[in-house]
Amino acid sequence: MSFFEVFTEYADLYSKAKYLYLKALPFRGWSVIGPGFMDDTHFMKEALKQAREAYDAGEVPVGAVVVWDNKIIARGHNQVERLNDSTAHAEMIALTSAFNTLGSKYLPEAVLYVTVEPCLMCCGAMYWSKIKRIVYGAEDVKNGYRKTTGENFPFHPKAEVTKGILADECAQLMKDFFIARR
Ligand SMILES: [Zn+2]
Repeated sequence: MSFFEVFTEYADLYSKAKYLYLKALPFRGWSVIGPGFMDDTHFMKEALKQAREAYDAGEVPVGAVVVWDNKIIARGHNQVERLNDSTAHAEMIALTSAFNTLGSKYLPEAVLYVTVEPCLMCCGAMYWSKIKRIVYGAEDVKNGYRKTTGENFPFHPKAEVTKGILADECAQLMKDFFIARR
């Protein structure tokens, strides 16, 4: 056998083993495979830290992180006021940062955590990014994507969506913000 044949055989076995391992995971809360993996709550807490940074800067408190291979590769929080840009949402900033970090225009193995249900624009950005999974905290009846899409799925067809992780904390931060601004 040539080196190449051995290599491709090994790669094939590895991907089969990885697939079986993924299938065998007891529940879908695990973000990425590997020893010492963190769950969705852990990463949502990191997104909440970003949301608090937005809050402290006088921005609508939404935060996001992008996770790849069980590591945070990008963070972002809403910067609409600071950048004077109504599209500077937490997800957009985190996605752009993730593309830069990986040097790739697609994120097919990544998970995006965001504290509040994404708007339709951010869903479009996530669609184009081919991101694997989207996890959000609180629902946003007023500006969330579901207001427009209803039961239609605006993300990439292969993407998975999980909602309601730390929803109360995520929603409370938004409530506090709007109460303080009244
Ligand atoms: Zn958005």
